[in-house]
Amino acid sequence: MSLTFRTDRNIGYIEFDHPDSKVNILTSEVVQRLGSLLDEVKAKPNLTALVLVSKKKDVFIAGADIKEIEGITQAADGVAKSRAGQEILNKLEDLPFPTIAVIDGVALGGGCELALACQYRIATFNEKIRIGLPEVNLGFVPGFGGTYRLPRLLGLSEGLKMIVSGRPIPGPQALKVGLVDRLYSQVGLEQHIQKFAEEVAGSSKRKFSRKPAKGFTGFLEGNFLGRQVIFSETEKSVLSATKGFYPAPLKAVDVVRKTFQTSRQSALEVEAAAFGELAITEISKNLVHVFYLSEKYKKLSLAGAEGVVPAAIRECAVVGAGVMGGGIAQILSLNDIWVRLKDINYDALAKGFQAANKIYQQAVSKRRLKPHEAARKMDHITASLDYSGFKKADLVIEAVVENLEVKKKIFKEFSEQVRPDAVLCTNTSALSVTEMAKQVKDPSKVIGLHFFNPVHRMPLIEIITTPMTSRETITTTLGLVKRLGKTPILVKDSCGFLVNRILLSYINEAGRIFEEGGRIEDVDRVMTEFGMPMGTFELSDEVGLDVGNKVLHILEGAFGERFKPADIFNKVFEKGLLGKKAGKGFYIHGKNRIPNLGVTSLVQRKGGGGTLEEARQRMLLTMVNEAARCLEDGIIDNAGTVDVGMIMGTGFPPFRGGLLKYADHLGIEGVIDLLKLFAGKYSDRFKPCNYLLKLKDQGQNFYSAT
Ligand code: NAD
Repeated sequence: MSLTFRTDRNIGYIEFDHPDSKVNILTSEVVQRLGSLLDEVKAKPNLTALVLVSKKKDVFIAGADIKEIEGITQAADGVAKSRAGQEILNKLEDLPFPTIAVIDGVALGGGCELALACQYRIATFNEKIRIGLPEVNLGFVPGFGGTYRLPRLLGLSEGLKMIVSGRPIPGPQALKVGLVDRLYSQVGLEQHIQKFAEEVAGSSKRKFSRKPAKGFTGFLEGNFLGRQVIFSETEKSVLSATKGFYPAPLKAVDVVRKTFQTSRQSALEVEAAAFGELAITEISKNLVHVFYLSEKYKKLSLAGAEGVVPAAIRECAVVGAGVMGGGIAQILSLNDIWVRLKDINYDALAKGFQAANKIYQQAVSKRRLKPHEAARKMDHITASLDYSGFKKADLVIEAVVENLEVKKKIFKEFSEQVRPDAVLCTNTSALSVTEMAKQVKDPSKVIGLHFFNPVHRMPLIEIITTPMTSRETITTTLGLVKRLGKTPILVKDSCGFLVNRILLSYINEAGRIFEEGGRIEDVDRVMTEFGMPMGTFELSDEVGLDVGNKVLHILEGAFGERFKPADIFNKVFEKGLLGKKAGKGFYIHGKNRIPNLGVTSLVQRKGGGGTLEEARQRMLLTMVNEAARCLEDGIIDNAGTVDVGMIMGTGFPPFRGGLLKYADHLGIEGVIDLLKLFAGKYSDRFKPCNYLLKLKDQGQNFYSAT
């Protein structure tokens, strides 16, 4: 039974306990059952208060059933679904005695809305508590009264902020903004609940109300014109954050604007209509798809290795204290892992320390860490010019220059200094992990652990396995990645692995379009208009044209002609126009970034390019073709791996659902037709690969086939 009712000393308790699940969710069935239970509760003669509580650890209610929302294809069905939930929550709100939601874990979406319909919310000091309305992240607006109740409870400014950001907040913040009334210790919670219920029992009016906002916000909230300022400022900040690609937060502002001063009934009608309208959009379906993918990959485990226990990681060693080594040391220490950082001279070590310290100082200034915590974590990093201390390492990460000979030598060296059970990782961007594994006594311990730059911000880590890597090594590495709060994808060793191989095919295509006469800013604009976080040339400047050029040559060595670097990349590299770090690349990076017209004279522009729309299709379909080759080569076996990799590793727009979801939306036949057209017009590199042709023959698409 997912819902039960009991009474204790005239206080009623509704307990949520979704069967066979770690979490409670508000399925239609649960909502209906709650409705009839509330009718029964209302008829009880002696009740003085009603408490809603979860029996799950760390979860109040995680939200409405996303599967049900995913299945909505008609706006009217969405409206009906929203109304059904709203009605039950109205019933809860209208009970003639105090109602109290007890939040001792996540209360998200519908779960938060249920709590909002209670007269009081109390929470605990549980660090797992997150309360909020993340619906806009899935492309729709809250549909169970959240847009009506939250701004009324917290004030317009704070309420809107929470709705449009979709960002849930922890308990102490919820107390501060007035979302919860009390915070209690988890110890003796039952007594705290009982006492609180007795304190508020009997009165149908709230005993304590939220203090209105003070200062300028209070002034704005207090008058009509001021509220219009809040709405338009919120819209502006949403537009600047989403560039207009995500309709849900804007719609949420619109809903609150229309309903903030109206009756409950008309407000809820507007909300339901907006929910129905958005829940059926392709953007929402794509975002739900990405949500499922990211949940799946966050928990990724190695198939067939269920019984394998990951080794505990207490100490790590990092070889190379450069851009990546410093970042890796920081994230390890942040997670309370001791780190021995090795480089070849003190200057290099100092740079690594400075890089780690800078990230900590930023965290302190953003109040994510207290100064003493940052200092304590920073103390987890020690340094050395030799391999002393490596004996203690449970896992070593090599992050020296991208040169196979250097890396092979270093693997040989440090593998002789570590314990035989230590896991040996490389952070190489594209080089053969297998070759490195051959340098050590036990190659089963060697694995690629490809962090992205900047390490503390990028959510993805590619784990690269060789045919020799053991299940224990993979399981331990997966465990570490999850502990660092990152999302792993598993890729078999092959040049460039997955993300860089696809990304470099895209960047190289932009280079060719440039050589045909395409303008830097136009090529970049068509991609940002597609939803990429930055243009292709801007991205190459960010990555560094030395790095990009090197990886392109490595890929050309492995895959031949199609990765032959566009001449412009060799030219800018030779001229030292290395991108952002050099102040100049395809752009001049000053206060304002402007296209570097000097680059134009470095190559003879051939002409012959097509329209900008065609340029965009070329760049996108080159990536699709390369991703299909990765599936064909068997380095991955799932379309979802590509989409997680490209969204989390390169910022491919989530509202498109991922690169291969986008290709599926275009249709495999359409993709093949365009590739053939480009192959005829430009070069054989566009020829659709066999994997794509096979999909077409079998009437499949990427997701149906994998
Ligand atoms: P970097 O040039 O900033 O740092 C390399 C460091 O290695 C230098 O401090 C150098 O002194 C040190 N080093 C060289 N030989 C050494 C040795 N024998 N022992 C110890 N230290 C030695 O390079 P980076 O950008 O940090 O890249 C490191 C690795 O990470 C490369 O394989 C690169 O491909 C990969 N990677 C880089 C990025 C990126 O964006 N920079 C992203 C992902 C992966």
